[in-house]
Amino acid sequence: MSARAVSNIAAFDALAIRREFPILDQAVAGKPLVYLDNAASTQKPEAVVEAIAHYYRNDHSNVHRGAHALADRATEAFEQARMDVANFLVGGKGGVKGGVKREEVIFTRGTTEGINLVANAWGRSNLGAGDEILLTEMEHHANIVPWQMVAAATGAVIRVAPVLDSGELDLTAWTALLSERTRLVAMTQVSNTLGTVNPVAEVVKRAHAAGAVVLIDGAQAVNHFPVDVRELDADFYVFSGHKLFGPTGVGVLYGREALLDAMPPWQGGGEMIERVSFSKGTTYTGLPWKFEAGTPHIAGVIGLGAAINWLGGIDREAAARHEQALLERVDTALAAMNDITRIGVAPGRVAVASFLLAGSHPTDVGMLLDQQGIAVRTGHHCTMPLMERFGIPGTVRASFSLYNTFDEVDRFIEGLDKVRSFL
Ligand code: PMP
Repeated sequence: MSARAVSNIAAFDALAIRREFPILDQAVAGKPLVYLDNAASTQKPEAVVEAIAHYYRNDHSNVHRGAHALADRATEAFEQARMDVANFLVGGKGGVKGGVKREEVIFTRGTTEGINLVANAWGRSNLGAGDEILLTEMEHHANIVPWQMVAAATGAVIRVAPVLDSGELDLTAWTALLSERTRLVAMTQVSNTLGTVNPVAEVVKRAHAAGAVVLIDGAQAVNHFPVDVRELDADFYVFSGHKLFGPTGVGVLYGREALLDAMPPWQGGGEMIERVSFSKGTTYTGLPWKFEAGTPHIAGVIGLGAAINWLGGIDREAAARHEQALLERVDTALAAMNDITRIGVAPGRVAVASFLLAGSHPTDVGMLLDQQGIAVRTGHHCTMPLMERFGIPGTVRASFSLYNTFDEVDRFIEGLDKVRSFL
């Protein structure tokens, strides 16, 4: 290990970071809260809570209608957040030639809406009978159902690439399913259920060689490591604010400008028009606003900008190493329990531990952990086809973030031990 890596480990102070998250400092069931449901939603640092409060206390107005000072301030903060997102999407290396343009950053309600936007605006105008959409067994429902709906409307066909027992994508089988009929590839960069990190750069390369457009679901990736959509060469990339230390109800669709430009609008209304007329017809405004009908979630966008700026002050390599160290500790403990079956053990996965306890239902395990102040998620995690593939009803999922500590891992393992003795 290099001297720099060692100093980074020393510099990463999860305890100092968690002090910026007031919500984590509370008791549940009479015990200090251990929050291990980060894949469902991360908590928010004070900087984000404060940015939203500041906006509502001082600057709130509708945006893009700049007839007065508050409208100007709100618009400036809103559009500044868009530039912050553009910079974030190239791994914080903004300003470099080839960076993401503001025209390519569309604010949405979240990952789900971003995918629905592409499925409707791009899908309905580019897919026809017999065209293929290539998915995987590990997709979240948000990256399945919109495609099923557009397939039903256009006659397109969905193909599904399998997942190996380890939780890795079967890249050979995926590649075999790719053909000149494949018009769209949609894939999650990181599985919310398994933690698997998919080789999306390679996937994009192969998909492009086959002439397909690629959407990457980054919902579970952006909070674990920096992403550069230009380097990935993705055509579309989506994520949610609330899994990135930002607010709920806001997310981002990145799209390659030429593709977005050629797409018809999806939702119609205010903000997205140039002129509306009954007699002369309606014309639309340019990017990015063409895809942002109606008053946007202004406070949410500003909060997302604050989250991204907060993350900009974190040593992300050190944070990732910290998360990996937490995962190693969890993995070692779980591997020593002979009544635990782990689901998803792909090499290089992010800090997600999904498992089953022999003879018990995941819901019961979750409830008994909650009674000890330990928050995990149980169930199918919006990945029912993946549950079907493994032949299980669901899993218990502990998912970690940069503010979790080794003490919390130990509390979780002790809690699980107690559950094992009950059940
Ligand atoms: N994709 C993945 C991989 C996810 O984990 C989630 C959220 N669990 C989504 C999509 C949907 O995100 P949202 O509910 O924020 O739209």
